[in-house]
Amino acid sequence: MFRVEPCLSHELYAMSSGGNEARLVKAATEQFNKLPFYHSFWNRTTKPSLDLAKDMLSMFTAREMGKVFFTNSGSEANDSQVKLVWYYNNALGKPQKKKFIARSKSYHGSTLISASLSGLPALHQKFDLPAPFVLHTDCPHYWRFHLPGETEEEFATRLANNLENLILKEGPETIAAFIAEPVMGAGGVIPPPKTYFEKIQAIVKKYDILFIADEVITAFGRLGTMFGCDMYNIKPDLVSVAKALSSAYVPIGATLVSPEISEVIHSQSNKLGSFAHGFTYSGHPVACAVAIEALKIYRERNIPDHVKQISPRFQDGIKAFAGSPIVGEIRGLGFILGTEFADNKSPNDPFPAEWGVGTIFGAECQKRGMLVRVAGDNIMMSPPLTMTSDEVEELVSIYSEALKTTEEKVAE
Ligand code: PLP
Repeated sequence: MFRVEPCLSHELYAMSSGGNEARLVKAATEQFNKLPFYHSFWNRTTKPSLDLAKDMLSMFTAREMGKVFFTNSGSEANDSQVKLVWYYNNALGKPQKKKFIARSKSYHGSTLISASLSGLPALHQKFDLPAPFVLHTDCPHYWRFHLPGETEEEFATRLANNLENLILKEGPETIAAFIAEPVMGAGGVIPPPKTYFEKIQAIVKKYDILFIADEVITAFGRLGTMFGCDMYNIKPDLVSVAKALSSAYVPIGATLVSPEISEVIHSQSNKLGSFAHGFTYSGHPVACAVAIEALKIYRERNIPDHVKQISPRFQDGIKAFAGSPIVGEIRGLGFILGTEFADNKSPNDPFPAEWGVGTIFGAECQKRGMLVRVAGDNIMMSPPLTMTSDEVEELVSIYSEALKTTEEKVAE
């Protein structure tokens, strides 16, 4: 599973059932033979897309959800969220509620709007982004941003206060939604500090602002719960998923929307006319057939429990290297884990970029047959959700050897 040849799953959080799942190939083949394509426009659709939507709505239990809209990717799912929210607010007679608040270091995709929502400067520079209706608030990275002596809970309170101040400064009547990944992924694997989501949700609710959970990475078991919202008791109004939805075998993403939102959008008394938004391949029958099978596999194998059971050895095994002189912080939960290299173990002392510490570590892992995602001196790992105990041992051993060699090279 961890060999370079069959899968790239460590790099993109995506191939959740590993690279050798014959059942997904069979599901696709059967659907190709039955009905390779039909669209989902004008109240038409296919059985696979209806069945998949039903499955997804029953699996999401953090709160009741009303309807599913299918896309081809996580970026499209997040772009669609913006249009859904605008349409909803227009239908409610609140057209001025237009702005979105996202967080620094978040990643929500690469299209114009999803890149705007993202909080990574590289996605904005040279592209005239973010769009003017997108605002960014603090990244909830305790290690990097806490003040001297500040506890995690105090840090979370400060960030919630900063969010409230931003809302008040902009005018609550202008803010439509807040979007967050339950655990930040591409920004460097950043789990929230204790009490963060509880406090953020209270602020968002106070000002009648919708909460969008971007679960493109965290959905379907990665944190040891079926959804990231279950882990942090998040009650979102809208949810984005992709990646593990089909175990990345075929492109598909989706947005789940609350019953309140779907009812307003479908209401006969809504004078706005149809929600004029959709993709040729929304609810593509082959993609949906594969996703139905992927979700069946996750349920049959009880993937969230499997992750819960195996992850302590994965997390503890890697976090045991936190004392390395070149490691600043190791963080994560479930089957997602990040390592940040830093000089003097301090967030304020990055290694000179030209040393390429992260790149060296990534190359040492690859030499030994393991792919990790390298972003500067941040290393991210997201193994298949089916990872076994033996594979964890192999992973920890490769990590250990790669780290030792990297330490030696840095010391030279
Ligand atoms: N949202 C999150 C949290 C992601 O991690 C990603 C991709 O990595 C996206 C959205 C964008 O998904 P896609 O690459 O399928 O467009």
